[in-house]
Amino acid sequence: MIRFWNKRVKIGILTENKEFDNEIKKIRREIKNHIAKRFAGSLAIRMVDSGSCNACEAECNALSNPYYDLERLGIYFVASPRHADIMLVSGVMTFNMFPHVLDAWQQIAEPKWAITIGDCPAMDAPFMKNFAIKAPVNEHIPISHHIKGCPPSPEDIMKGLLTFLEKLK
Ligand code: SF4
Repeated sequence: MIRFWNKRVKIGILTENKEFDNEIKKIRREIKNHIAKRFAGSLAIRMVDSGSCNACEAECNALSNPYYDLERLGIYFVASPRHADIMLVSGVMTFNMFPHVLDAWQQIAEPKWAITIGDCPAMDAPFMKNFAIKAPVNEHIPISHHIKGCPPSPEDIMKGLLTFLEKLK
């Protein structure tokens, strides 16, 4: 038993990454401060999938897990655009989703901001303009900030939100 505890103390917990934990703690602290100052402690996000592969959504889902726990910082993913401050758009803006994205955007009360997430919404190659796709998203709604990645990790998304909040100052 003593040998076990000696080994445990010497090696530590191998699954921990202190550097990453500290980086996330720092980002969390800054996001929380900005939301407290700019949004009275509560920022509501309506996520809209304009035609994604769902990996961007999966990474956003991870933000609600007990590790990233964005709700503790005052960030809530809401079901109705009428409750939202921000629209987070993923996907490539398909012809079928186009009217729904516009509809959601129009229903958000002012002041409002649109943020795109993932590389899809920003794609502007010639083949992205065809009968099925109306990319890029910024031709249809004003985009305040873009979070790069395919998909962006939860850390990238948090950093992107922080950069957006800093821009609002
Ligand atoms: S950016 Fe990448 S992960 Fe996100 S929806 Fe597009 S293909 Fe999927």
